[in-house]
Amino acid sequence: MAHHPATSPFDLVVRDLMGRPGAQRMVDTTFPAPTDLGTDLIGVPAGSDVRLDLSLESVQEGIWVSGTVIAQATGECGRCLDTVRHDVAAPVQGLFAYPDAERDEDEGDAEDLFELEGDVLELETVVTDAVVTSLPFTPLCTPDCPGLCDQCGARLADDPEHAHEDLDPRWSTLQRLFDEKES
Ligand SMILES: [Zn+2]
Ligand SMILES: [Zn+2]
Repeated sequence: MAHHPATSPFDLVVRDLMGRPGAQRMVDTTFPAPTDLGTDLIGVPAGSDVRLDLSLESVQEGIWVSGTVIAQATGECGRCLDTVRHDVAAPVQGLFAYPDAERDEDEGDAEDLFELEGDVLELETVVTDAVVTSLPFTPLCTPDCPGLCDQCGARLADDPEHAHEDLDPRWSTLQRLFDEKES
C-alpha cells in the first residue's frame, strides 16, 4: 500500500488511543472525496461529501475501527443510460494492528486486518472497499426500466406507447412473439 501523507482526509491520528486498551473515541467527520470511489458504472464522484461515522477502540493488538461510511453515488442506468443516484451507507470495520503486535495466524479475517502507519490510521483502502462492495453491479434507474428502443434509441420509459410504422416483417414477427411472452 502506498504511503499517504497525514494530510489525506482518510487519515486519522490516534496517538491518544495507542497503548490504552479499552479507550474509545467516536469520530463523525465529513469531507469531499479526494478521488472517485467506485467502478466505471457507478461511484461517489470526487468532490462530493463522504461522511465517516466511526468508533475507534483501543485493543491489545491495535485500534479496532467500526462504523459506517455515508455518501451518494451517481452512475448511469445500464439499460437507458439515465443518471442513477444511489445512497451509500456501507459498514466499515477493521483492525489496524501495531506493526510489532503478535497475532494468531487464524485469528480474525485477513481482509479486515491492516497495519498502523506510526500513529495514523490510513482508512482510504477500507473505506473505498466498503463503498465499492455496497454499489450495485448493474445500476438501474428503476428495477423494471424498459431501456431504449432498439430501432431509434428513444427512452421507452418516457414513451411506453412507442412504435414504428414501417416495421420489417421479420421484426414484427419477433415483436409479436415478444409481446405474447410479456403478456
Ligand atoms: Zn433506466
Ligand atoms: Zn423507436
